[in-house]
Amino acid sequence: MEQRPACIKVRGGRVHNLKNIDVDLPLNKIVAIAGVSGSGKSSLALGILYAEGSRRYLESLSAYTRRRMTQAEKPLVDEVLYVPAALALRQRPGVPGIRSTFGTGTELLNSLRLMFSRLSSHRCPNGHYLAPSLRTAAGLPLKCPECGCEFYAPSAEQLSFNSQGACPDCQGTGIARTVDESTLIPDKDLTIDEGAVLPWKTLMWSLMKDVAREMGVRTDVPYKDLTDQEKEIVLHGPAEKKHILYLDKKGQSTELDFTYYSAVRTVENALAKVKNEKGMKRVARFLKEGTCPRCHGSRLSEEARAPRLCGRSLADVCRLTLAECQKWVDEVPAALPKEMRPMAESIAASFDLSAKRLLDLGLSYLTLDRPAATLSNGERQRMQLARAVRNRTTGVLYVLDEPSIGLHPANIEGLKGVMKDLFADGNSVILVDHDTQVLKEADWMIEMGPAAGEKGGAVVAQGTLAQIARNPASKIGPFLSGKELIDKRSKIAEQDLFKLGRIHLESRQIHTVKPLSVDFPKSRLSVITGVSGSGKTTMLLETLLPGLVSQMKGEPLPKAVKALEADGIKQAKLIDATPIGINVRSTVATYAGIHDELRKVYARTPDAKRLGYKAGDFSYNTGRLRCPTCDGTGAIVLDVQFLPDVEVACPDCGGSRYRKEADFVRRQPKAKQGEKAVKAYTLPELMDMSVDQALAATRDLPLVQRRLRVLQDLGLGYLTLGEATPSLSGGEAQRLKLASEMGKGQDDTVFIFDEPTIGLHPLDVASLLDVFQGLIGQGATVLVIEHDQDVIANADYVVDLGPGGGKEGGRIVVSGTPEAVMACPSSLTGKYLRLNRK
Ligand code: ADP
Ligand code: ADP
Ligand code: ZN
Ligand code: ZN
Repeated sequence: MEQRPACIKVRGGRVHNLKNIDVDLPLNKIVAIAGVSGSGKSSLALGILYAEGSRRYLESLSAYTRRRMTQAEKPLVDEVLYVPAALALRQRPGVPGIRSTFGTGTELLNSLRLMFSRLSSHRCPNGHYLAPSLRTAAGLPLKCPECGCEFYAPSAEQLSFNSQGACPDCQGTGIARTVDESTLIPDKDLTIDEGAVLPWKTLMWSLMKDVAREMGVRTDVPYKDLTDQEKEIVLHGPAEKKHILYLDKKGQSTELDFTYYSAVRTVENALAKVKNEKGMKRVARFLKEGTCPRCHGSRLSEEARAPRLCGRSLADVCRLTLAECQKWVDEVPAALPKEMRPMAESIAASFDLSAKRLLDLGLSYLTLDRPAATLSNGERQRMQLARAVRNRTTGVLYVLDEPSIGLHPANIEGLKGVMKDLFADGNSVILVDHDTQVLKEADWMIEMGPAAGEKGGAVVAQGTLAQIARNPASKIGPFLSGKELIDKRSKIAEQDLFKLGRIHLESRQIHTVKPLSVDFPKSRLSVITGVSGSGKTTMLLETLLPGLVSQMKGEPLPKAVKALEADGIKQAKLIDATPIGINVRSTVATYAGIHDELRKVYARTPDAKRLGYKAGDFSYNTGRLRCPTCDGTGAIVLDVQFLPDVEVACPDCGGSRYRKEADFVRRQPKAKQGEKAVKAYTLPELMDMSVDQALAATRDLPLVQRRLRVLQDLGLGYLTLGEATPSLSGGEAQRLKLASEMGKGQDDTVFIFDEPTIGLHPLDVASLLDVFQGLIGQGATVLVIEHDQDVIANADYVVDLGPGGGKEGGRIVVSGTPEAVMACPSSLTGKYLRLNRK
């Protein structure tokens, strides 16, 4: 018999920047792939291992099923042997639809629906409640003793808001569109005759003014001067029939009976009659989205909310946090008649199994009815992870792409538990991460490098962690052994922190976050810390940022903000990791403002003059030189019947976006005296270069040099000029967004960063700290939400929220220098900082 393979063998890997690598990855182990960002970790993990593993898996399915799935392309690799079927848990799971909640996504709701269907007290059609009995569980008809009627208990399906249990008013979305009364009379200085009531003007006949007059409202007085009673009639008056005299265009008068439509009813009536998008647009300006009044946001129909279990309805239970819900589920069996208990216990056990994982991963504070679309990336990814372990697969290759995102060190234990269980069930785990605490769990490590892009793509070290830590070629080794700590910034003494001013914020209660009063020092680096769900996002992104924005616009403060003092602040910028641009037309070169300059420069070349090309002709969006086949996008979409759309590189320009004629225009850089002459390049050639390479090729173009240098300083020297910005990683996008902010005065600006270390190696974190220092050097105030220990330790000021998530959090535990946080016994952040920094 052939021996069982112990390794996945990759031979000749050339995806993206990979340098024709051969590498063996042990099976049935936890294998970590490390390396600086852009070194090729994802190219190996997702581009080869996952791509090949999922392709083989799809091939093993029937042709019928395969057709329904995205066609996986064969990756650029000579050979991959012994790769198992693969599943990837991505860094940025797709944004879930409006029908998905924490309860549906975790499948916890399935257990609850089963419980309510089989074990609850049911209501008969006449409204009498019947205690749970084995008949319900067996699906037999129930007989109501009070009225004698026979009926069936609702099935789990009838308790589902995505099926028969949906609230009929909101179709199970929990959201209703209602009239936004503040939009109905935008200009209160106008009289009704002058058109003060906007819906009457745009949605109704103008003669509603005449009807209003018959209703007893003065229509020649500015709206603001009407009595309260008149205003009430305008907004909500009854639908009475009135007799009016109607003058048509020719001056002929007609007598008419006309029903009064109040401003609100006018909108409601129009909404009920909307037939298409265009019609909806006309009405939408008068509407606001809010909780559906019929189901109170529970998404469930009356029937689905009727059954009671231990005094609660399904809707009540879904409003509990996971921690509370689990406690409740565990109490159910004992509260039921004895003969029902075995079934109750079995459903509760299945609930507990899923719940335990989620609790371990630090999600105890989420309520089951929380719309999945409002969860953070990290929370969604952990939801996927928990589901993966629950499914109890074996022999599967799990590729985890930065599972530490959003995880406080206190939650990392739970993540380790998940990995260990996947492994114990006979699966293999491949882990791409930068968090040394997570990496330490690996049995084997492959380090990619030595640097990013062209300068990376090779395996620089591999082995057990002990071997890597001893390997002089390894860059991560010193961080694993704790020998190396990042200490980049000079300390600012406690008493000097607020010397340059402060931003003072007082907030009101929002979600589970308590009213807070907090000061951020101006022109300093402040880091906001706390376990997931403690309120970091709420404080910075939902309170401070909108507060600053309204203050700058001179608008009233949002409801969440009680008071805000931010003297001298004129700009607030959120630098997040969302992709840049939604279409492929945005590239690194256009985004960084280099392309415009290059177009002008190329138009000045002798070649261009001879051929008659102007700067505009070099635009790949609109210019004459753009590739006509792909219209300058570099890619074409294959529309194959029955298959999902596939995007492939344009066969004519090969992705360069330019037509062949662009190759006839070369530019010879001017060499300074004593310098080696640089080769002449075409614009498509230049666009195919990395920032580093382009720096050498444009030495005589000062403006381009300056901008490219900024990209290099931001650690983006490896990006290709022509790379489409929407496909950049979150961290890359975040840093690129800063390109236009560097090198100018910033003392009136607040920058807010949301977990900027995503995807960053400890060495990249060091460059990120340089970037922060650059901004602060220009006077900027930098506020960062972060879990990374190195960033926290290098902060001037730390605001630690918590102590827990959800209801257990939402307060300021401690604020001060990192040392002050470390000295605070009640701070979890302080505890881990002490452990890591000692
Ligand atoms: P890491 O995961 O280590 O950050 P990646 O594997 O994502 O690195 O990237 C390695 C190199 O390949 C980088 O130079 C990156 O710019 C390039 N690259 C990544 N994705 C693509 C892509 N879809 N097309 C072209 N180049 C890519
Ligand atoms: P952090 O950023 O520290 O992880 P958040 O500010 O996102 O914490 O969350 C704080 C609390 O507010 C949590 O209990 C969270 O569940 C709740 N929360 C956040 N966003 C929403 C929302 N859109 N709807 C309801 N609750 C929310
Ligand atoms: Zn509803
Ligand atoms: Zn093309």
